Amino acid sequence: MIPFLDLNQINKPYLKAIEEASLRAVRSGWYILGPELLSFENSFAEYCNVSFCIGVANGLDAIGLILRAYDFPEGSEIIVPASTYIASVLPVSYLNLIPVLVEPDPVTMLIDPGRIEERITPLTRAILCADLYGRSCEMDKIMEIGARYNLKIISDAAQAHGALYQNRKTGSIADATAFSFYPTKNLGALGDAGAVTTMDAELAEKIFYLRNYGSKERYKNEYQGINSRLDEIQAAILNVKLPFLDRDNKKRREIARRYLTEIKLKDLVLPPADRIDEDAWHLFVIRHSERAALIQHLDRAGVQTNVHYPLPFHKQKAYQNLSHLELPLTEKIHEQVLSLPLNPILTDQEVTAVINAVNTFEKLQ
Ligand SMILES: *Cc1c(COP(=O)(O)O)cnc(C)c1O
Repeated sequence: MIPFLDLNQINKPYLKAIEEASLRAVRSGWYILGPELLSFENSFAEYCNVSFCIGVANGLDAIGLILRAYDFPEGSEIIVPASTYIASVLPVSYLNLIPVLVEPDPVTMLIDPGRIEERITPLTRAILCADLYGRSCEMDKIMEIGARYNLKIISDAAQAHGALYQNRKTGSIADATAFSFYPTKNLGALGDAGAVTTMDAELAEKIFYLRNYGSKERYKNEYQGINSRLDEIQAAILNVKLPFLDRDNKKRREIARRYLTEIKLKDLVLPPADRIDEDAWHLFVIRHSERAALIQHLDRAGVQTNVHYPLPFHKQKAYQNLSHLELPLTEKIHEQVLSLPLNPILTDQEVTAVINAVNTFEKLQ
């Protein structure tokens, strides 16, 4: 069986270094907001080519802390992608802001910039976009709309570490960008971790306080903050893995290139191939009208797949209040998408096996 993602194998090459680094953190006696975190924040800021990086507890909090720091009045509207993982949108709801859902572009499956403007009202304060599957959104168009309507642009780049858009890294384009270092991400910790990147000094400073009870100095609280800190052990592990992110992404791009050129199955929709060397290929998401049969065929051929995601968030019980929305494109995408294995440890033979398995699928008559 070719597993969809084997974290044990993914982390194996780093294991010795990870053991040493985490043991160093354990023995140091400094577990929270210490030198490992500072070092990671500096390195990741440099990697993204941005002035500030603030380590936080996870990707969800990274989005939430950006929204808290902007302090939009309750009831403000935030433009969000209809097709995304629920974590992109939950922080909007927590803060009593109103998510306004926008359908995706049918080719990229990312928020369609052409459909944003019609949803802007006097209450709109920000556009939140998500760089799903490792591909940056159309940021020039989104930034232009943001500038014209005086809206903040917030990016959820939890799936797009190291992706490029017009030679700029994700993390350096939007007003503020949220990252997750959940173990399955392109840059993954061995537990939960996240970060915010921004060029905005004032915003960065506020998030530095907000993640630690709103505290500037010990026992002095400027804001009603939260507890969302990236711990020293996870930071030490991320310090080990960050230098290899580009190498891993290069491997992902090589595999994506092979899938894009060698998968020939009729009626199957491949992801866009216009930015193979810029996208970070967190996921390789194909579409097929007979998804269930294709999954079964691949499973029998020894290829484990996954669905990102089976149900749009507005159809989840958690968002019953949005279930009346009509988002046909988003719903169709969720019925048809299927993710093939794509990760830096796949061998050439395994990639060939995946390609052959897909190409030998015969449609049910
Ligand atoms: C993983 C992910 C998140 C959430 O990250 P956590 O670290 O699990 O909180 C948010 N948005 C997207 C698009 C993700 O893939």
